[in-house]
Amino acid sequence: MGLVARTLERVKPSATIAMTSKARELKAAGFDVIGLGAGEPDFDTPDNVKQAAIEAIQRGETKYTAVDGIPELKRAVAEKFRRENGLSYKPSEITVGTGGKQVLYNALLATLDPGDEVIVPSPYWVSYPDIVLLAGAEPVIVDTKLEDGFKLRPEALARAITAKTKWFIFNSPSNPTGAAYTEAEIKALTDVLVKHDKVWVLSDDIYEHLVYDGFKFTTPAAIEPRLKGRTLTLNGVSKAYSMTGWRIGYGGGPEPLIKAIATLQSQSTSNPCSISQWAAVEALEGPQDFLKDWVASFQERRDLVVAMLNQAKGLTCPKPEGAFYVYPSCAGVIGKTSRGGKIIGNDENFAAALLEEEGVAVVHGAAFGLSPFFRISYATGIKALEEACRRIQRFCAISAEAGDAHARYEIQHGKPDQGQDHGDPQRGGDSHRLRCDSRRHHARSERHHSRT
Ligand code: PLP
Repeated sequence: MGLVARTLERVKPSATIAMTSKARELKAAGFDVIGLGAGEPDFDTPDNVKQAAIEAIQRGETKYTAVDGIPELKRAVAEKFRRENGLSYKPSEITVGTGGKQVLYNALLATLDPGDEVIVPSPYWVSYPDIVLLAGAEPVIVDTKLEDGFKLRPEALARAITAKTKWFIFNSPSNPTGAAYTEAEIKALTDVLVKHDKVWVLSDDIYEHLVYDGFKFTTPAAIEPRLKGRTLTLNGVSKAYSMTGWRIGYGGGPEPLIKAIATLQSQSTSNPCSISQWAAVEALEGPQDFLKDWVASFQERRDLVVAMLNQAKGLTCPKPEGAFYVYPSCAGVIGKTSRGGKIIGNDENFAAALLEEEGVAVVHGAAFGLSPFFRISYATGIKALEEACRRIQRFCAISAEAGDAHARYEIQHGKPDQGQDHGDPQRGGDSHRLRCDSRRHHARSERHHSRT
């Protein structure tokens, strides 16, 4: 009997954490590395929020609290949902956890049984399929296309739904693509979902405030009130308030779900940090005007990165509506040989050679379930971004031609594995389960790690 549980064999460690650590190691060893892997804003937490935490400590708010959040925070969250999303939740319909990730984890663990299916559009935030696998259920991956702005089409959603579908996970603006759905695009999806009354919707709105060019954010439960009774609207303070280390996330949903989440939380972590909860009250209730400057700064960086990457030979970079990521295609570089003599057979080779030869750390697309792409986080200073993009341009200006190198690569290594099993005939070929053959999955996991 091995030490590690079989369930854990289905799960991968974090790819960006792996990439960030590798970049950090190289930096510590004296290499000139620019890290574009991390999924957090580079701004400091606002001073009023820090002050609220200091005052909470001084008031002695340092004891256990109610498992799923202090009443003051639940009220602040309910008010936020009302003010910003037009959604009305009672405090008993609000849950607070240690990051949005815990709320997501608890919601899935509390509701999934073996055999249940969860629809996850790809490219996805890697925690989605892995948490589904941890819960013993099956992620059903539905690929989106660059030509569609990486947005799921309603026909593809309809085809992916079966009698076993328990959840549909929706994330806008998206990690890793930055794509954000307009009201009409969400309505097209909710029109499909209203017809399937057994399917629950998990809307991950964590990047809500990071949208550009005046884009209007909205969320499924607000667009289609008939879905509100089977939707968990997930959010948190990590991204909008630059509070990733404070670990506060929250969700609004029907009471039975919120209660089930609390039961699970009561037998694992208990309450999220008491001090962070008071800081989150201030984040939600305090001044919001700093956000304008942050958004303007992110927009400027996005525009720079998109323009420079589109000048790189072999790359195509769509301009996303939100978050702080871009997800360029590197299809035009696949099959070529880098200046350093590395054959770029897939996006993982691309990211590895880019780090090794130009000192730029990005995360390969296979980690997010869609190749050949890579993800850049532009939550870093504009000078570093400019330099990184110059290096990427230089890296891509490789001349050795594809055919031969590609053929050679495939002869030596077999066809590049995109980390997916395509073509589930029942679903018309555009969705597929992430197979749970643990050996195969495990072997793959050594190459494709997840991210945060
Ligand atoms: N959802 C998405 C899409 C994310 O990218 C992240 C963090 O990277 C989270 C949720 C969770 O964030 P946290 O646990 O810090 O609230």
